[in-house]
Amino acid sequence: CGIVGVLGNHEAAPMLLDALKRLEYRGYDSAGLATVNDGRLDRRRAVGKLVNLSDLLVHQPLPGKAGIGHTRWATHGAPTRANAHPHRAGPVAVVHNGIIENFRELRADLAKAGFGHETDTDTETVALLTRRHMQEGMSAEDAARATIARLEGAYALLFLFAGEDDLLIAARKGSPLAVGHGKGEMFVGSDAIALAPMTDRITYLEEGDIAVITRAGATITDAGGRLANRPVKTIALDH
Ligand code: GLU
Repeated sequence: CGIVGVLGNHEAAPMLLDALKRLEYRGYDSAGLATVNDGRLDRRRAVGKLVNLSDLLVHQPLPGKAGIGHTRWATHGAPTRANAHPHRAGPVAVVHNGIIENFRELRADLAKAGFGHETDTDTETVALLTRRHMQEGMSAEDAARATIARLEGAYALLFLFAGEDDLLIAARKGSPLAVGHGKGEMFVGSDAIALAPMTDRITYLEEGDIAVITRAGATITDAGGRLANRPVKTIALDH
């Protein structure tokens, strides 16, 4: 339902929570964050309102300057903590809006190869497939690209990886995503409104785009895998 991401110079968790709050009006049943801190990937998730997640973070803080967050509106799997995003498989964490139509087929393939699912979601399949590609020797970026190439349906995806404090990979197909440009910081939101406190300099991804984002900027390829030159727009945000 709502996606946010930060490659920042300050703690990511408070920024991610703030950004998610700006998407609350869309409705959601659960929420979660993942960060990378000293290379270590970790996550926190809670059912219900964002205040439940922020309360959890008081008792179990989530340090790190790189992170992703999600508010979920369940389509596959009950609104439980286990089914809340970010989903994780080994070094891969992912948040997702929309539906992966062919997840059952992918899930069956993964199960045969020994990659068992722990949740009922279509999203976990994306994390597991990416993990599988990395185990086969691909880089994080190549693994994400190989995974995205297998997916059918409408989705926005944002990936974060253990050991990568300066990398987010975003993909848009049928569900909007915006990249925000800060000063030595980069942001991602399913709606630019989420990023309003951080930046008004926005690049909207187009259908089939994949963005490889570091603090130095975003490199975007189009549906055909060609380098795409998407404009950075300064948008008016009065709330
Ligand atoms: N299909 C995913 C799920 O049920 C994502 C739902 C959403 O867009 O929030 O977990």
